[in-house]
Amino acid sequence: MSVVGVVGGGQLARMMIPAAINLGIDLKVFGETDVASAHLAVTQVGDYADFTQLARFAKGVDVLTFDHEHVPLEHLRALQEQGTTVFPPPQALALTQDKTVMRSALEELDVPQPLWAVIDDADDDAVSHVGNFPCIAKLPVGGYDGKGVRVVTQWSEIEDWLEKGPVLLEELVEFTRELAQLGARRPSGQWQAWPVVETRQQGGVCAQVISPAEGLNPSQASLANSLAENIADTYGVVGVLAVELFEKPSGDIVVNELAMRPHNSGHIFTEQSDTSQFEQHLRAVTDTALGSTRLRDNTGIMINLFGSAEFSTWQQCAGDFPSVKFHSYQKPSRPGRKAGHLALTGPTTAETLSEALAAEEAYKGAHS
Ligand code: ADP
Repeated sequence: MSVVGVVGGGQLARMMIPAAINLGIDLKVFGETDVASAHLAVTQVGDYADFTQLARFAKGVDVLTFDHEHVPLEHLRALQEQGTTVFPPPQALALTQDKTVMRSALEELDVPQPLWAVIDDADDDAVSHVGNFPCIAKLPVGGYDGKGVRVVTQWSEIEDWLEKGPVLLEELVEFTRELAQLGARRPSGQWQAWPVVETRQQGGVCAQVISPAEGLNPSQASLANSLAENIADTYGVVGVLAVELFEKPSGDIVVNELAMRPHNSGHIFTEQSDTSQFEQHLRAVTDTALGSTRLRDNTGIMINLFGSAEFSTWQQCAGDFPSVKFHSYQKPSRPGRKAGHLALTGPTTAETLSEALAAEEAYKGAHS
């Protein structure tokens, strides 16, 4: 298999391009527009939700994979029936498209997760099942970067959602920090994970990643790895799987959500690990032996740049931060949008974080 087709032209598809070039894989991207982040590899522009267009794209590739999780499952099943290899397969992707499907699947696997309930209307029994107000409400489908998540103290706060359809209620987890376990699985079942990272959010959006998560004990690390592998095996995930986790004050970890593609929390592995998540995803979907996930440096820090990430702005501060890597997604600027990131590896968390934050400040200063 040497032609990999990626549905979606966002930054994840973009960052697969250098890995594909190095491996000698042809990468074709089905983008929403020809000025997409991954425009250098876009070979078809159109609507991924239109079966005819998707089928035309699939004809020219050996394996179909994704930059996002929004392709209708029935289209993917139909393509599989016509002989297209789809990785991750639709039965696995189903868990990432609907948070209620994910919660039931994790329950069947006995994976630790927040208490949850699905409601169609203001249901006081359901809220007592998740521990009472305040609790978390989520739109089951279509939310991203915290946009479909609300802390709820009374029913009137989600009236607008309940008018449209079912809502997922979750216990408000009093976590000490958020973590993520990333790994990849190839069709034969080989599983290779990276060490657990810590993700720091601002306003429900990942702002920083610290790799590896500091002070994790071996039993937490082994639980995170084994639950991710278990999910991947059970649902036949192929490619990168990201499992977002909450760590409780007791040290217990519970699963927040899943992604089946390279993930924001794994960007630092491009600089820090023997194998980037983009290369590993391509290896997995082409059924190639997975690369080493050894970390080359003690600490890795990733800082997201929101709004805009302009090379010309970075040029003004690059000289002061020769070890910091600047990544731009070449997206039109829009407030709050993930536009790029900074990455830095180093010997200690304190030193590396402080240099990365200084680079972020310098970038912001040059931008304003
Ligand atoms: P999205 O799919 O939009 O990324 P998430 O389900 O990951 O939404 O939630 C976004 C953020 O909201 C999480 O990173 C976390 O900070 C917070 N959050 C989500 N679920 C819970 C919960 N059950 N308890 C406490 N905080 C939560």
